[in-house]
Amino acid sequence: MPRPQKQRCICSIPAVKGFSPEGSKGTGSINLTYDEYEVIRLLDYMQMTQEQCAKRMGVSRPTVTRIYDGAREKIADMLVNGRMMTIGGGDVFVCPAIKPECEGEEHCCHKKRELTGKYQEDGE
Ligand SMILES: [Zn+2]
Repeated sequence: MPRPQKQRCICSIPAVKGFSPEGSKGTGSINLTYDEYEVIRLLDYMQMTQEQCAKRMGVSRPTVTRIYDGAREKIADMLVNGRMMTIGGGDVFVCPAIKPECEGEEHCCHKKRELTGKYQEDGE
């Protein structure tokens, strides 16, 4: 019996909704879910370990590895085949409060800014 998937905690909804390739005739589009985006942000952009990333998102480390593998496959497909990418969806929730370790991080908006609908603006 499959266990229900645990909801993943993300720091904010990314402001960018997608990417389109330049010079491509368009070979379909792929969707990167918010949890996949968050794993790429935390591991590759913030340079966290998978352990730290798992803690931040409230999931197990093997889950992080699985999400990461899927995300990289999609990004590679986008780059190599010139596909459009949309960002959205996934079983996620935005952290209800700023975590102490997120203080001052520009890509963490958590609930505070989400509620005011201002997550596209930078720095306050
Ligand atoms: Zn955060």
